[in-house]
Amino acid sequence: MTLDAVLDRIDADLDASLDRLLQFLRIPSISTDPDYLSETRRAAEWLRDELAGLGCEARIHDTPGHPMVTATTGGEGRPILFYGHYDVQPVDPLELWTRDPFDPAIADANGTRVIRGRGAADDKGQLMTFVEACRAWRAVNGTLPGNITFLFEGEEESGSPSLVPFLEANRDRLSKELALICDTGLFARGRPGIVTQLRGLLGEEVVIKAANKDLHSGSFGGLAINPIRVLSRIIASLHDETGRVTIPGFYDGVPDLPATLRQQWDSLGFDASAFLSGVGLATPAGERDRTALEQLWSRPTAEINGIRGGYAGKGFKTVLPAEAAAKISFRLVGDQDPHAIRESFRAVVREMVPDDCKVEFHDHGAAPASRMDISNPAFEAARAALDQEWPEKSAYIGAGGSIPIAGYFKSILNMDSMLIGFGRDDDQIHSPNEKYDVESFHRGTRSWARILSEIA
Ligand SMILES: [Zn+2]
Repeated sequence: MTLDAVLDRIDADLDASLDRLLQFLRIPSISTDPDYLSETRRAAEWLRDELAGLGCEARIHDTPGHPMVTATTGGEGRPILFYGHYDVQPVDPLELWTRDPFDPAIADANGTRVIRGRGAADDKGQLMTFVEACRAWRAVNGTLPGNITFLFEGEEESGSPSLVPFLEANRDRLSKELALICDTGLFARGRPGIVTQLRGLLGEEVVIKAANKDLHSGSFGGLAINPIRVLSRIIASLHDETGRVTIPGFYDGVPDLPATLRQQWDSLGFDASAFLSGVGLATPAGERDRTALEQLWSRPTAEINGIRGGYAGKGFKTVLPAEAAAKISFRLVGDQDPHAIRESFRAVVREMVPDDCKVEFHDHGAAPASRMDISNPAFEAARAALDQEWPEKSAYIGAGGSIPIAGYFKSILNMDSMLIGFGRDDDQIHSPNEKYDVESFHRGTRSWARILSEIA
């Protein structure tokens, strides 16, 4: 059977594929730092040449920022888009690295073989699992698998400013039946997950203005309104005692968790206390009647991210400040409408602002949640393929954070994404000593071969 031959080929080629990854990792493609402009481009060119070498039609597209790389296998089959990013995070503080971040190597970390270097896990090592699976496929079959379009971005670590315009300008070329994104992690060691829901995000800043200058609390206290008191009341009213958000209409569009997903999540054996103990906590603080994974993945939140006002420096100052402000963000799920929630939130705040105070709002962006349609048979096929490769059964999981690319694929290209990645929590992405387990790289490559043989 060809799949077995492809898997054998991946095993036999492992050392050479690791060498190619190390080559890629030596290119310091730090997208946020203008000093690395030409190096970032060199990483794009390296990828283009790799894909062209595999027989793809590969090209570089200039943007106002770093270039995009696209390539197509040009075969028959289900039209699929594969996404990854070739840029990396800055490396400082450099003194905390045990080796030069751009002189990567295969190393031993407590008995585990790892690839050490900036970008090893995020995202060069991960995107190369897919490229290497395609390479092995071609070596065995003489052609690349199916009808795949590659899209590699060089600005993911610096806010993706060119991505939306690029997707909009290339809708026809990039809109496929399904997107594969390899930039996430395993659910647990040996247990892959397919992310099928991602929370959205809404950011608001509230500024309460009172007197036309800071006042002395002896001369004015008691008589003059204190904006910190007003702001505190507003913030304290955002949740009720069961942890629910009180903004009218906030839960409109929040779906019930389907029974099959609930079962799967319950079977994951997620230990909330263990998860929280990593950050010195012990007790889930969300909605009381929801499980910990629901609180993390499928329920919306309101969080106060920062408060300022008055004097908080050394010593003491008896001041009635002229203004107080808070930054508040909402994680959104299902069909919650960010704009309706913004309006409802603002109405609540205005209602609570007394005479003598004014309120100003600043909009810090809004992105709706995304939910993938797992009734698309490709999802079950991919899950079954992962089960063949990994020691533990795979699962559909949520992501508490927002992965904007999946949202853009949905909103601009009308395409669902399958987010499958092989990173681990201790990979130190964005930190010194980033690593990627050789096992992740190897099994990840084999996983893509298995998935492609099912869905491509
Ligand atoms: Zn990434």
